[in-house]
Amino acid sequence: MIEISHVNKWYSPTFQVLTDCTTSVTKGEVVVVCGPSGSGKSTLIKCVNALEPFQSGDISVDGTKVNDPKTNLPKLRSRVGMVFQHFELFPHLKIIDNLCLAQQKVLGRSSDKAVAKGMQLLDRVGLQEQAQKFPAQLSGGQQQRVAIARALAMDPIVMLFDEPTSALDPEMVSEVLDVMVDLAHEGMTMMVVTHEMGFARKVANRVIFMDRGEIVEDAPKEDFFGKPRSDRAQKFLSKIL
Ligand code: ATP
Ligand code: MG
Repeated sequence: MIEISHVNKWYSPTFQVLTDCTTSVTKGEVVVVCGPSGSGKSTLIKCVNALEPFQSGDISVDGTKVNDPKTNLPKLRSRVGMVFQHFELFPHLKIIDNLCLAQQKVLGRSSDKAVAKGMQLLDRVGLQEQAQKFPAQLSGGQQQRVAIARALAMDPIVMLFDEPTSALDPEMVSEVLDVMVDLAHEGMTMMVVTHEMGFARKVANRVIFMDRGEIVEDAPKEDFFGKPRSDRAQKFLSKIL
């Protein structure tokens, strides 16, 4: 579903942020990406839906090359759900309107259809009663669940998450992780930057460990948690577990 092949990226001529990154995420797979701050996790995940350009290598999503100038990026992005650390809901729109906007503008759904889909997804994340509120009236955990529902409203073929729980108060982390675990169990293809190793243990198929722009480790979850090959991953794990 996602093929990342020998990707190199520089933010400036003297600063290479990604070095020869190669990995893939197959359909239905959940891949967790972890690693120290500044190791390039966000940059890599942003390259997948072309929010960041890269200078060499290739990335394709469902067979479409994201770095091909002929690729229709808005169309591609409409199929790739993305959830960030900061929920980035539209503050001036009610929750239900947050869920409907792109369905109508990008997918051309009728208002009735968009609202029906939106309400169904709000129900799924346990927030149907919040539909008429504004984002600022919701807790962080609720806003992040809305952000996930909004991404799902587009019927994505893959979901990308960048530290979706790291800006939340501790008591709200699990309500967001529960939604993500359900998604994983339903077979959604997911690439998730997170340090929530409980989540990784529960649903990841593979764990990628990045350090200084390199994919240092890319292993089935059992192997990664059993005994990471590299010293760097071992040290990292010993700090966060
Ligand atoms: P964190 O765990 O803190 O989120 P990360 O692994 O997601 O870190 P990135 O955000 O991908 O790391 O950043 C990788 C490196 O690139 C860091 O050194 C960062 O300062 C740098 N960087 C990120 N974005 C830019 C940018 N737009 N321009 C220049 N440098 C950047
Ligand atoms: Mg990051």
